[in-house]
Amino acid sequence: MSALEPYSPDRSLKGKLRRRWARAVHRRPIGGAIDGPLISFSFDDSPRSAATAGAQILEAHGKRGTYYVCAGLDGKPGHMGDYADRRDYADLSVRGHEIACHTFSHLDCGKASEPDIDRDVDRNIEALSEVGITTRHFAYPYGDVSPGAKRVLNRRFGSLRALHPGLVTPGTDLNQLPAVGIEGPEGERRAAGWIDRAIRQRVWLILYTHDVRETASDWGCTPDAFDRLVRRASAGAHVAPVGTVLGRLGIV
Ligand SMILES: [Zn+2]
Repeated sequence: MSALEPYSPDRSLKGKLRRRWARAVHRRPIGGAIDGPLISFSFDDSPRSAATAGAQILEAHGKRGTYYVCAGLDGKPGHMGDYADRRDYADLSVRGHEIACHTFSHLDCGKASEPDIDRDVDRNIEALSEVGITTRHFAYPYGDVSPGAKRVLNRRFGSLRALHPGLVTPGTDLNQLPAVGIEGPEGERRAAGWIDRAIRQRVWLILYTHDVRETASDWGCTPDAFDRLVRRASAGAHVAPVGTVLGRLGIV
């Protein structure tokens, strides 16, 4: 299974129990206070429209985002439009965006063995290093995770982002950070509600989306919706990439 086709997460009882068990082990809780409100916009897989329209909208507001990328998808066609390639990532990086790791092949880390995860991440790191990029943070493809995946990735990255919705507060596990999707017909409304909550509670919210196009996929959003959300976040919070926020909090 790759990101080239839509994915159905493992809805079996075994899959659910694995994810629940993973929440309890190999934790790295945030110790200090979160001096928010802080909001990060991230893009998973990086369809080209995220690297073009998504980046342009952030930059128009003077902001930057985090791109969790798989070098193995380099320029390929997909159900969310063509993927960006390593030249795009290098260019984004020069412009101040953060490039982060999402495995090389969009590997399901919930099901893969620890050596397979290590090998796949090595491949991504190597491919990105050829264009001068170093990745310090990671997002689980499909948000799927296992205790073994947390153990092996904990050794390699400053933070590991998952896909369950929530705010980042003191005590939140850096090895399974929550994130809220800007995706589907309700994506903008739901994300706006979470932005307001993060601002009210003065904590950190990580948002993610995929393609940013007029005809967005079920995993993306339109440029207008994305622009309204960046405007809303910027009006009440400090907006910065994931790694920048963690640095600012003195965490990693
Ligand atoms: Zn992904």
